[in-house]
Amino acid sequence: MVIMDSTRPVPAHKQLEAWLQYFDDLGIGSFYRDREGSSQTKLVDGARIAEPPAAAETECSPAAAEGRTLPTLLERADETPLRVLPDGPPTARVADEARRTLPPELRALVHPPPLLRFDEPVVENLESISADLGDCTRCKLHRKRHKIVFGAGNPAAALVFVGEGPGHDEDMQGLPFVGRAGKLLTQMIEAMSLTRDDVYIANIVKCRPPENRTPQEDEIATCMPFLERQLGAIKPEIIVCLGSTAAQTLLGTKKSISAFRGQWFDYQGAKLISTYHPAYLLRNPNAKSDVWMDLKKVMAVLGLKPPARDASRPRG
Ligand code: SF4
Repeated sequence: MVIMDSTRPVPAHKQLEAWLQYFDDLGIGSFYRDREGSSQTKLVDGARIAEPPAAAETECSPAAAEGRTLPTLLERADETPLRVLPDGPPTARVADEARRTLPPELRALVHPPPLLRFDEPVVENLESISADLGDCTRCKLHRKRHKIVFGAGNPAAALVFVGEGPGHDEDMQGLPFVGRAGKLLTQMIEAMSLTRDDVYIANIVKCRPPENRTPQEDEIATCMPFLERQLGAIKPEIIVCLGSTAAQTLLGTKKSISAFRGQWFDYQGAKLISTYHPAYLLRNPNAKSDVWMDLKKVMAVLGLKPPARDASRPRG
């Protein structure tokens, strides 16, 4: 991967070169051909850069032939009810199935496919993924970040927490969940009879969005392949999504988290459950009891003994 000095503007041709290398790393080798004079091109730093055309304008696109445009498909995907796992081992592969509803060329545009399934042999580790990420400039979030927050914890953790993105403290330290919300997450983990070293903690995007805004779709789509590779290397038994951005991204839905919080889903062979983000709990302490119920479900699957009294649940 091309390493770039993030303090200087990156020329357009270098950005394009980095993107092509990035897609090559992901095994994506085919690209659409931009029509001459298409309105889908724009000037960036004086160079003409092609933007992906709408699906309906893609030449020879079966989706276009059937009138199945990308926005329409995404809207329909969102209407598809999430499948709740029955008790017992997970069988459904919700995220995979949602992706499979898209034609292949749109699937690559919407969300690059994960390189590994959890039930396949591990061929890379967190160190090699971090080295591949490098001093990443793949999306615009790199411009104002101080440090990339790759993730931290046990590289063979049975339990992985996934949040939305770094905040100010995380951006300054390069570590996930170290601010006020992070302290509450630590209390939640310890209330489960675990430590932060027992679990792995990561985010959907690895650079702080300006003013702590929600990450945008293009930023998520660019950064997510690295989280997928991390999850593929760790092969956790359980993934806990913290907050709606993490839950909606991993499950491929735009439904409100309150519609599926506390329910089990399958994600690439791991059991996935969603609960409220610790930052939400700081603003809405009454929701702590809901979160504690969710964490007790996780403990039951991991065979962790609940504390003698629920009074020990996180109070932060
Ligand atoms: Fe790279 Fe992810 Fe940071 Fe974007 S958010 S610059 S993709 S590490």
